[in-house]
Amino acid sequence: MRRPSSHRRVRRAAVTVAVGTLVAATAAYAAPSPGARGIGDPYYPLYGNGGYDVSHYDIAVSYTPSNDRVVGTTTITATATQDLSRFDLDLALPASSVTVDGVAAGFRQGPHELVVTPARPVRNGRPLTVVVQYAGIPSQTSVDGLDPWVRTADGAVAVGEPEIAAWWFPSNDHPRDKATFDIAVTVPTGVEALSNGVLRSKTTSGTTDTWSWRESSPMATYLAFMAVGQFDVRSGTSATGLPWVTAVAANGGAEGRYAAADLARSPEVVDWHAKQWGPYPFDVTGGVAPAADFGFALENQTRPVYTRGFWSSGSNIYVVVHELAHQWYGDSVSVTNWKDIWLNEGFATFAEWRWSETHGEGTAQQLLRASYDGIPAGDSFWTLPIGNPGAHREFSGAVYTRGAMTLQALRNRVGDPAFFQIMREWARQHAYVNGQVSQFISLAEQLSGQDLDGFFQAWLYAPKKPAPTSANGLADRSKVDPAAVPSKRLIDAVTAAETTARTGAETGRRS
Ligand SMILES: [Zn+2]
Repeated sequence: MRRPSSHRRVRRAAVTVAVGTLVAATAAYAAPSPGARGIGDPYYPLYGNGGYDVSHYDIAVSYTPSNDRVVGTTTITATATQDLSRFDLDLALPASSVTVDGVAAGFRQGPHELVVTPARPVRNGRPLTVVVQYAGIPSQTSVDGLDPWVRTADGAVAVGEPEIAAWWFPSNDHPRDKATFDIAVTVPTGVEALSNGVLRSKTTSGTTDTWSWRESSPMATYLAFMAVGQFDVRSGTSATGLPWVTAVAANGGAEGRYAAADLARSPEVVDWHAKQWGPYPFDVTGGVAPAADFGFALENQTRPVYTRGFWSSGSNIYVVVHELAHQWYGDSVSVTNWKDIWLNEGFATFAEWRWSETHGEGTAQQLLRASYDGIPAGDSFWTLPIGNPGAHREFSGAVYTRGAMTLQALRNRVGDPAFFQIMREWARQHAYVNGQVSQFISLAEQLSGQDLDGFFQAWLYAPKKPAPTSANGLADRSKVDPAAVPSKRLIDAVTAAETTARTGAETGRRS
């Protein structure tokens, strides 16, 4: 963006705000106040909470497959970001006890919200240790008609976006507040319990096993998962030294065999991604394929979880490529607000196109042309401004496909060296934190030396098909026969499956 005059205005306003904050902070010191009920996401104002910043979750849950009961104790290490008289956590299961810094705290629960009143106010900048004990049956716990918990024949899968955390642990449930995790899941002996990161230990006590996992890189709460059931768990270290853990349902049938073969390629896919986008941000990889049809795959950090339906027609490496691309774009670099979702889905879909290109199954340019020519200007596909799609539209097909087209068009516009530098720098500069669409646009302009305001306006914000101009990265008008692009149908199938499932899940979501 090049608007020096508005920059000056913003600067003056910032000074005024700073003075105001100083006055407010002084007043607040005298009278601690409740943390905000939401973190301030423009689409979902009540998501997450204000007044503190979490650095670590220590989750210990026991899960009983026979009755779907979760009994948990979660210890949250945080820092107060204001003088706090009270604060909220997001939790749907009933809590039985809450302590703050070792002292019993008052608490009450509304739908999805646990309101905690410490015995003494917590001063701004002070560390805060909150211990919550809770228990319940997640499959019988719905909030405004939504229950993302998936119970399977022999266990359960806690996986969802953007909501799942509240069904198994209390948190500040928004990607803006990332933290490290220890996750210990206790299950009946003989049942497997998968989660994120490295398996630190598996211990047996009487008739139960406890699987202790650790994710030591900051992670958004929706990316934490657990999967319990009968799994064939495998682990090893790749040729490049990357540890991996995969788990495929023991009773997965033919789909399970295809899933196992594709998940076994996860380290190879990660290595391929690293060559494209820069070093893999985490210390372990893998994947989990339960014997359940929950309708989508999710990029859970270090270990995506896949619905079995992705393998109903045989091998499907593209869904693995997509979810592992999110380890860079979505997990390491998280959205700042849910409206930034193009940075996740457009990028992961472009990564599928790039995989296709480097594996002789159609170039990204062919896929751009096939999509551009194949979707008429009058189609509603083109009406969604994917740079700001609107609440409950984050997982619309256009965010994926028009999102990938945008990146290939950018590549055409700035050339390969600048394009791949932009992609890598984006992953590097925002590693382990958050990013916004406006920041990506600034980076692309800075590294290419081009004014790209019109380009991004046409691709991300205009509710119509971008004109076929060189400025829009569409100078090459060669027609593409979709039948000559062997991977296209597969890519569309992956995108449609992920999209349909999530859009369906969205409909019952609280606003
Ligand atoms: Zn995705």
